[in-house]
Amino acid sequence: MAEAQRPGNGRLAGKTALVTGASSGIGFETAARLGEEGAAVAVNYRSDEEGARQAVGRIEDSGGRAVAVQGDVSSEEEVRRLVRETEQSLGPPDILVNNAGTQSERPFLQMSLADWEQVVSVNMGGAFLVSREIIGGMVERGGGVVVNMSSVHQIIPWPRFAHYSASKGGLKLLTESLALEFASRGIRVNAVAPGAIATPENEEKLQDPESRASLEALIPWDRVGESAEVAACVAFLVSDEASYVTGATLFVDGGMSLYPGFESGEG
Ligand code: NAD
Repeated sequence: MAEAQRPGNGRLAGKTALVTGASSGIGFETAARLGEEGAAVAVNYRSDEEGARQAVGRIEDSGGRAVAVQGDVSSEEEVRRLVRETEQSLGPPDILVNNAGTQSERPFLQMSLADWEQVVSVNMGGAFLVSREIIGGMVERGGGVVVNMSSVHQIIPWPRFAHYSASKGGLKLLTESLALEFASRGIRVNAVAPGAIATPENEEKLQDPESRASLEALIPWDRVGESAEVAACVAFLVSDEASYVTGATLFVDGGMSLYPGFESGEG
């Protein structure tokens, strides 16, 4: 693909990116988009090798470079290995997207410690481990950019998902703290907070018309979002066009975080 025909006019050409949890959903679309914009992309997956291969294939079809790297982001040892493999295949990442995430529905009084740790150790712990492994190299090279995939639930409380909302709330302050700690070293750190996006994570809920309607009632834009709409925002944030943006959260939620209960003007 000629540079000018690429999405974003090939603005990520010459960059290397690592996207975690990129074998499906938002991570898949983000990896594909960054690759289509010219970045060489390491597509991290935990167990879905086929999904990762498809993301790699899509990037290669656009004339880009990509590799699949296996690894569980909640394991310190596996994170070290997956970052080493990324560096050996593509060179050190200029761009890191901490996208890997998980959720499970648990009424609080039935939430086991294992339930809690599983969600927090991936959503927040994974971002900590992978960032720590990569930011050191960014400091040595004098720059880099990190995007953490948060959620509207970094500000909207969510009963029965206390571990999930706590992990995303924590991710918000991790993002802001790292942005402050590394601004003087040329490293930007931001978050993207999706609302309801159609992905494998919520496929079941969206297939049920009643659940879908009650979800859509919470979205002023009246529809669920697409992974590609989130990926486009990540691509902007990691590009030099966002060169003065750090410590910010970009909400990609069709207005879900705007207190939709007040839409009528009453209240
Ligand atoms: P998804 O289930 O398709 O994607 C999550 C990805 O993370 C999967 O590829 C999964 O394999 C990977 N993953 C999970 N645990 C991992 C681990 N330990 N190590 C490596 N990879 C791991 O769902 P999605 O909706 O695309 O979610 C992507 C991100 O977006 C998550 O952080 C999620 O919390 C966030 N998000 C999604 C929505 C939504 O409506 N879909 C809304 C807000 C935030």
